[in-house]
Order: sequence, then C-alpha cells, then structure tokens
Amino acid sequence: MECEVCGLEITGEPRRVLIDGVVMLVCERCSSMGRKLGEVEHKLTIEPWFDMPELAEDYPKRIRQAREKLGLTQEELAKRLSERVSVVKRLEAGTLVPDEQLVKKIRRVLGIELIE
Ligand SMILES: [Zn+2]
Repeated sequence: MECEVCGLEITGEPRRVLIDGVVMLVCERCSSMGRKLGEVEHKLTIEPWFDMPELAEDYPKRIRQAREKLGLTQEELAKRLSERVSVVKRLEAGTLVPDEQLVKKIRRVLGIELIE
C-alpha cells in the first residue's frame, strides 16, 4: 500500500497517525509529521473508519433509496432503528459514519448491506 502523505510504497508496517485532525496511514518516515493514534485522546470520533474500512462510499444513497423503496419517511426509519431522526438525516447526508452496531441495525431494518 502507498503512504497517504508522500505516496511512496510503504515497506513494513504502515503507521496510523493523526495529521491536521485526519487519520492517515503513512510510512515510517512521514509518521513523524503527525501524532501517533495511541496518543490521541478522542479516539472514538475517528475510529469507525478503521473498524470498517470497507464501508461503501455511497452508503448515504443506499440508505435513502432503500428507505424510499419501503415507503418510509426519515422519521419512520428513525423509529425503526431506535435512533433520533437527526441520525437518519445525517446518515443520508453522509455527515455521519455509521458504526458497526448501526450498520447491523440498518441491515436488519432496510435489508441492505453497507459493507463492501
Ligand atoms: Zn510517506
């Protein structure tokens, strides 16, 4: 795989570091530019991407289309997911990355897969 900073092939283990608030996989040389993930205090806000690296890029569209197919409003979907309607709105806007639990609930309620 390639370093996300310098673009060179990473030999050995890629390092996860935080650079300007974004988690990146970088080579050893570039890892000194950011903070190591272990040092980051608010890990929870950035970890979902790493728990599910194969999350479909078009998940907002998949959710909206599946919801409309079932004839559900955002409010009704939120109720079925036991989530607030703002969660559904943010999912469909792509501003909220679903965690594993939410992906499972969406799979159960909408019958769609968000993991590629
Ligand atoms: Zn690099």
